[in-house]
Amino acid sequence: MSFERERRQLLADIEAEVAFTREMTGRDHLDAKVMRAMYRVHREDFVPDDLRHASYRDSPLPVGYGQTISQPYIVALMTDLLELDANSIVLEIGTGTGYQAAILAQLANRVYSIERIPELAQAARQRLARLGYDKVEIRCGDGNLGWRENAPFDAIIVTAAAPSIPAALLEQLKPGGRMAIPVGLPRMHQDLMLISRDHRGATESRKILGVAFVPLIEGCWTG
Ligand code: SAH
Repeated sequence: MSFERERRQLLADIEAEVAFTREMTGRDHLDAKVMRAMYRVHREDFVPDDLRHASYRDSPLPVGYGQTISQPYIVALMTDLLELDANSIVLEIGTGTGYQAAILAQLANRVYSIERIPELAQAARQRLARLGYDKVEIRCGDGNLGWRENAPFDAIIVTAAAPSIPAALLEQLKPGGRMAIPVGLPRMHQDLMLISRDHRGATESRKILGVAFVPLIEGCWTG
């Protein structure tokens, strides 16, 4: 199955959702480059085999270990908020399947992604290598600490809900950089926040939308 029709339908679903939430997000439409990336990355390559038929539903899907691949509309919106260009160096926290990292890799120069669960990190690494995404580097560890060796970053995206913005991530954001992060308690309402750092280093934050993410866990994986 090629999913061509489903892929086009997904773009239409995302556009409809963007229009529906425009009052909250302040966005009428997403950048054409982001929509092209959503079209080019095949979601069926990232979901478990038994859910392949559901790949183009605009909803999160379970991927094992109690984790999910995010809703495509949210993936697209968060990517759009980062305003990436071909020079951008991006840090992602919460690799999961590698789907969001693959979307980022379509737009940026380099993507560093941290995943806490070793099995997911390894599976994502192999999947992205097989699909030819050579701009993505994945590390297993606690994303709350960021990735100091490769900092500072033009953009940071956190794909799990944080109780507050981790200080190390703020420190690793370049002046002029942007961070998209869901802030709030697990299994409760969270706010997708956009943090912008100006060229003098001052940060400004804006609430974008109510969202529901799996939690960003503090510390190391204990199985
Ligand atoms: N971006 C993913 C979906 C993310 S689900 C995709 O495109 O598929 C959230 C992920 O964050 C889960 O895989 C979870 O294990 C991971 N996670 C939770 N806490 C973390 C932490 N402290 N550091 C790194 N990853 C974390």
